[in-house]
Amino acid sequence: MKFSLSAPPQGVGDRAPNSTYYKTNWNQDFIGYLIVALSVVLYVGWFIIWPVKPNVRDFVQSPISHVLLFFGLIALTIFVHELIHVAAAPNGFTSKATVIGLNARNYRFYTYIDSELSWARSIFVVAAPFLVLTVVPTVLRFTAGLPTDWVGVVAICNASLSANDLFIAVSIFLRVPRQAIDVQFDFTSIRYALKTA
Ligand SMILES: [Zn+2]
Repeated sequence: MKFSLSAPPQGVGDRAPNSTYYKTNWNQDFIGYLIVALSVVLYVGWFIIWPVKPNVRDFVQSPISHVLLFFGLIALTIFVHELIHVAAAPNGFTSKATVIGLNARNYRFYTYIDSELSWARSIFVVAAPFLVLTVVPTVLRFTAGLPTDWVGVVAICNASLSANDLFIAVSIFLRVPRQAIDVQFDFTSIRYALKTA
């Protein structure tokens, strides 16, 4: 696994033998706006589900440490989010091709994985951070009464960060056949292979 500050590597190309590759694209500008809108909806929506109230008295007593805690927590959420993508992929951590990066040209965080993924596994890899950092804490909050506000901050920020992931997960679910092998995806397209009969 590597860390990078440049653009994600190019796709892995055709590698499943005896199969045909297909590609689904989307209108990048339109989807770009849709994802920003979805990100806002997720943020507001999760805040309604989990109304985290900052403790103003603590904040006034130590404003700097609270601001640092808040931004530190967001940075940690982004990092752990990317690590969960890697952990969900077969050989994610052991593969030399895995990259966690920040594309300095568009300030987008990304995870590049070259594992060969089935239809179901690809959806799991894309959606895993949303499940682990947002859905699970939210369920625990309502079932086990998870108390802390800071966990709520992580759950809400991560919901907002997951807009692009959720769009890709739904796209794979709806547009890629279930028998697909070697599902590859990035911000602009999904590629997948079907066995040639
Ligand atoms: Zn993600």
